[in-house]
Amino acid sequence: MNNQPSIQRLRRLRQTKTFREIFQETSLSLNDLCLPIFVEEGLDEYQPIESMPGVMRIPEKRLPYEIERIAKAGIKSIMTFGVSHHLDETGSDAWQENGLVSRMSRIAKQTAPELIVMSDTCFCEYTSHGHCGVLHNESVDNDQTIHNLGLQAVAAARAGADFIAPSAAMDGQVAAIRQALDNAGFHHTPIMSYSTKFASALYGPFRDAAGSCLKGDRKTYQMDPMNRREAIRESLIDAQEGADVLMVKPAGAYLDIIRDLRERTELPIGAYQVSGEYAQIKFAAMAGAIDETRVTLETLGSIKRAGADIIFTYFALELAEKGLL
Ligand SMILES: [Zn+2]
Repeated sequence: MNNQPSIQRLRRLRQTKTFREIFQETSLSLNDLCLPIFVEEGLDEYQPIESMPGVMRIPEKRLPYEIERIAKAGIKSIMTFGVSHHLDETGSDAWQENGLVSRMSRIAKQTAPELIVMSDTCFCEYTSHGHCGVLHNESVDNDQTIHNLGLQAVAAARAGADFIAPSAAMDGQVAAIRQALDNAGFHHTPIMSYSTKFASALYGPFRDAAGSCLKGDRKTYQMDPMNRREAIRESLIDAQEGADVLMVKPAGAYLDIIRDLRERTELPIGAYQVSGEYAQIKFAAMAGAIDETRVTLETLGSIKRAGADIIFTYFALELAEKGLL
């Protein structure tokens, strides 16, 4: 009897809540989360987004109120997305001193200076065709677009944005933005690049949220979800170009990519839990199939465990206001 090989008893460290808390390897806090918001100009009432229950387009005039609410809830950072009524071929409203991109940052920083504002830097919400840059022969012109991204970045920095967050998935966009910011004297404004951005079907509800008018797809500039080596290459190139923070988007279906990247770079990594990931949890919970809070915390915790330092999630405000983090 005494000579039996001993069982490895991992249950010893799980026997009470306190044991489990002491040995928990990953924990989440509001410091880990960034809240993306949608702000529409010329809107009178909040506009619910049907494919994202609980998320609304915020009328620009209500933005100060919402910023106060977000800051009071303990959220540390937001990502701003504009829903523009001033669309043109190039998305030029996005680099105007008084355009929507600039106004969102200005209003947010005036209302809650301590709240970190990341300015999503792209053109798809400002172009009449819905693509992320200037169209030329039905394809997005890479080099003209990165020049324009530089203009937008400087306008946003001038308006007070703490972070420039390019999401256009253009080659060379980080280098172009870094140079434009430096030339304009914004040496201290960091770039958080959407460095590995997949052409994902999980963005579906976002298109509702942002009022996208895109016809066609973005497969010539966003990545094939099946490509793992290219995913790492995309992010490492952005690191070389001077990105301060990298990002993998979407998050939940790409935990392997987050992990791979974590092992290849010392830079902080962001991960974006996208609209389709949010909608899956919300609708499954509404159908009574899952426990929303537990699944939300489990998915966010798993994204952090995979190696993310900051997680972009539409759940951030609800978790904060309900005191769940
Ligand atoms: Zn875009």
